[in-house]
Amino acid sequence: RAKALGRKRFELFDASLQKRAVDVLTMERELRIALHENQFVPHFQPIVRLDTNQVQGYEALIRWNHPERGLIGPGEFLQVAEESSNIEAIDWWMFEHSSALAARHFSDDRYLALNVSALHFRREDFCGRLLDTLRRTGLPPSRLVIEVTEGSLLDDPEGVRDILATLRRDGIGAALDDFGTGYSSLSYLHTFPLRVVKIDRSFVARLGEPGSGNSDAVVGSILALASALGVEPVAEGIETEAQRDRLLAMGCRFGQGYLLGRPAPLGDPPTAG
Ligand code: C2E
Ligand code: MG
Ligand code: MG
Ligand code: MG
Repeated sequence: RAKALGRKRFELFDASLQKRAVDVLTMERELRIALHENQFVPHFQPIVRLDTNQVQGYEALIRWNHPERGLIGPGEFLQVAEESSNIEAIDWWMFEHSSALAARHFSDDRYLALNVSALHFRREDFCGRLLDTLRRTGLPPSRLVIEVTEGSLLDDPEGVRDILATLRRDGIGAALDDFGTGYSSLSYLHTFPLRVVKIDRSFVARLGEPGSGNSDAVVGSILALASALGVEPVAEGIETEAQRDRLLAMGCRFGQGYLLGRPAPLGDPPTAG
């Protein structure tokens, strides 16, 4: 009996694995079609000054207007895109379209923050192609910040350091995204030419809650370190007044989150809350 059950389970497992493989193949094909048919839609989320609510810039966040599933977020397709190396083409599509939109619609004092996959850093022509794109779309390099995750710094620190230094010489800034979730130590930060460090929303979410002493301490030390290194901290995922007030009291001047503005396509009136 146990044997029969075990076998049944095995078949179920096998069937779901097979389904997953088919799903991945289907999505890879759909992603290539999506690129050709411009099914992606850049959304923009404001990055604001916490004391005045003034918008400093916008982070571009990709959405996919899937023909059957409707609008879906990167959580549902980025991993497949990375594994099938569709991600590079998708990112270039996003760079092109979001910088064109930024050049046309943002006021001159606002910047564009772009998420880039670590895979780009292996390409010799990454910086040149980025500059070409900016020239073509008319967005000045000084108004671009690229967001990289800790993981992409650690893969090849020397190489990434060179790339960020080259970008900085051209006026393009770099932000370290989701800081605090990876494995790099705080003191490692200063070896990269960064303009911004983004405090991961997992810490912001717990700020000011009972028993959140650890998050308060982590956020406090990121802020102290950022200040010592001259890197601008930006808090992610601010959802409540209490979190914003706590961050302000701790000396964090900039933030992002549903409280301050949700990601939206250009042209939609900005919504908060
Ligand atoms: P991220 O760069 O850390 O972006 C912040 C994520 O937090 C976004 O999720 C945003 O919608 C969400 N968020 C913003 N405010 C709040 C809030 O108050 N509460 C909560 N719970 N969430 C908030 P999204 O758009 O699903 O993007 C997920 C990740 O996908 C991004 O994380 C980024 O790593 C990646 N990504 C997005 N667009 C692109 C892209 O064009 N290229 C690449 N390579 N990666 C992208
Ligand atoms: Mg980001
Ligand atoms: Mg982030
Ligand atoms: Mg994130």
